[in-house]
Amino acid sequence: MSVPRAPLKPLDAALAELLGNAQPLEAIEWVSTFEADGRVLAQDIVSGLQVPSQDNSSMDGYAVRHADVLAAQHTATPLAVTQRIAAGSVGEALQAMSVARIFTGAPIPPGADAVVMQEDCDLIQAAGEPAHVLIKMLPALGQWIRRAGEDVTKGAVVLSKGERLTPASLGLAASIGINLLPLVRRPRVALFSTGDELVMPGDVAPELMKPGTIYNSNRFFLRALLVRLGCDVTDLGIVPDRLAATVDALQSAAQHHDLILTSGGVSVGEEDHIKPAVQTLGTLDLWQIAIKPGKPFAHGRVQEAHFIGLPGNPVSSFVTFLLLVRPFLLRLQGVAEVAPESIAATAHFTWARADKRQEFLRARRNQAGGLDLFPNQSSGVLTSAVWGDGLVDNPPGKTIAHGDVVRFIPFSELLG
Ligand code: AMP
Ligand code: MG
Repeated sequence: MSVPRAPLKPLDAALAELLGNAQPLEAIEWVSTFEADGRVLAQDIVSGLQVPSQDNSSMDGYAVRHADVLAAQHTATPLAVTQRIAAGSVGEALQAMSVARIFTGAPIPPGADAVVMQEDCDLIQAAGEPAHVLIKMLPALGQWIRRAGEDVTKGAVVLSKGERLTPASLGLAASIGINLLPLVRRPRVALFSTGDELVMPGDVAPELMKPGTIYNSNRFFLRALLVRLGCDVTDLGIVPDRLAATVDALQSAAQHHDLILTSGGVSVGEEDHIKPAVQTLGTLDLWQIAIKPGKPFAHGRVQEAHFIGLPGNPVSSFVTFLLLVRPFLLRLQGVAEVAPESIAATAHFTWARADKRQEFLRARRNQAGGLDLFPNQSSGVLTSAVWGDGLVDNPPGKTIAHGDVVRFIPFSELLG
């Protein structure tokens, strides 16, 4: 009996439906700022102080009063160095016709209104005499002074709820004295692969692999991708191609996880048990998404847990994760803007065969400012995803001529 083919679903529609089901996790956990890279903020972070806290020098040199320098230059008089202010110490009010030796980061003493860098001064140091400097240039008012509050004002929201933290955000949080951050808890994800042909690297040596068997590669990149997205991953290994085993695996995974993610077994072949197994325990939609690679995609629920089934072909699995699972997991963590940014880039290749599906071609930027294409775009050739540094997002029905401007999504937008 032939199974009627479901109509192809556009990627945008699939993504919108998937995101519509991603109710953001509510639990907050307080995590050391050191450990928060890549995680999502659960609350706004408001600054309790201004940064810098006071005017300070951005150079090693001399803090001066502009008017005094002007007066001294008329008569070529050196100015007395009456104090020394290093970072971490505080100076005193600047006396008339004097300067303060000052170092980068040190507070500007009251009365000073500019800093002259030491390279623009001649130090005059006679034995037993106080030091003087001859200033060889007229500083602009405010020169080399970092103003109080120029980075952060008191009461400002420096980082916002739903924002994913980067190394720079951790530094900014630290600069306002934050050592613990309120984060959305990590999504708990159960991961398993299906397929009787799969063997784990390390279990069987390459020269002893039986015909018909392959190593489980999806498990490695899926787990790494999940970890990069801040997930707590339970790796349930390989589930054999049997209905009862698949049902058991799903049932136990549903207990403690927000998402069950599988690869393989989502086609409608006799060895594809994901569909009936999920239907036994919950609900399932099996989609044929209009993308290449990556057409079959399943999603639904197993009890309280979300379920997503990725195709087995490695590149299909990889690409559908990046385009669908990644935004889903970010939205689950409360991130509003989950779409990757594409950039315009010039094709230094031709693509003569238009497809009715939206294609995601593995390509990389070259030194000449264009894009080269990996020669083999088969969904089984994982080398393409290692060689490439992003995906050309090619609309349905489109060929590409050398020199055409195409949309390119760098992996930096997708893998972080
Ligand atoms: P399936 O979606 O189960 O029909 O699998 C499609 C193709 O992907 C088959 O060639 C499988 O052998 C292959 N495949 C499935 N799972 C994996 C995996 N975890 N690692 C590598 N290849 C896989
Ligand atoms: Mg299979």
